[in-house]
Amino acid sequence: MKNVALLSSSYSGSTLLSMLVCSHPNVIGFGDTYNYQFLHPDDTRCTCGARPSRTCPVRIEIENKMRTSGADFNWITSNPTPIFDVLRTNRSAVILSRKAAWVPVFRALPDSARLRLLSDYYHENKSFMAALAKTGDYSHYFDGCKTLLRLELLRTIFPETKVVHLIKNPNAYLHSFLKRKKRRDHGIVNGWFRYNASAHDYREILGPENYLLVTFEELTKKPEQLLQEIYRFMGLPEREGSVEQWMDMAKIHVIGSETKNVFRQVDEKAPKWKTDLNAGQLAYIKKRVAETRWLHPIFPDMDAIQPH
Ligand SMILES: [Zn+2]
Repeated sequence: MKNVALLSSSYSGSTLLSMLVCSHPNVIGFGDTYNYQFLHPDDTRCTCGARPSRTCPVRIEIENKMRTSGADFNWITSNPTPIFDVLRTNRSAVILSRKAAWVPVFRALPDSARLRLLSDYYHENKSFMAALAKTGDYSHYFDGCKTLLRLELLRTIFPETKVVHLIKNPNAYLHSFLKRKKRRDHGIVNGWFRYNASAHDYREILGPENYLLVTFEELTKKPEQLLQEIYRFMGLPEREGSVEQWMDMAKIHVIGSETKNVFRQVDEKAPKWKTDLNAGQLAYIKKRVAETRWLHPIFPDMDAIQPH
């Protein structure tokens, strides 16, 4: 099994991308699946239709396979990063365990020290991947949890790890965020730039051949073309036909925000951020984009989405 990590900020279309990538018969992934502590577990729905998601037959099969290999794995208390068992249901501990602030701490440690310190975590994840390989015709795990620390730690045991880095126009991101939560706008924008700069660092860390930058805008405009590019990057056979033919919901097991982003419909209207964000917000994002060199080649395309 090859590990492919999706890195993306929230509200950037990651659930949609996970569903599309995992529609490939050789890919399995679960989307943003580690958030039971923040949800009512009975309300979560798996793309395959299982509700609550813990009744999904593929998830149950994986739990059972892991138990036979000695790992006491349960989707409800699973965590993307290391955590003491007694803290698995403790909200604050769970949030703390996933902080990107740990990334430089672990990056400073040699692999031998990581393996010694986190032996239970690595054992659990090795047996997780082994269980996935035995569950279907899967060659690739598409990890949709978006946690930088998980990627940093797992590349020690899966050195061939690849990254798909998904970004959405930061103007559209700020607009999506403000619609759902009230927070200071500069803080939101700074969070976007901080996360995506750390994600982009993996181009250097893993090598450019193991890093692919994609945009939400191209995903919604020409999904087949982008998906084939992602499949080529992952080393998977390409597919015939259209996205509509590829999506067999019964065989996809993603959990994420109940997305209304249906491919091909997203860009039908003029982006709302163009009229809804104020001049100060637009100017601040423009300044941050100007300071962020790696965005320059792709930004004009993302910003030029026009109504049909
Ligand atoms: Zn399912």
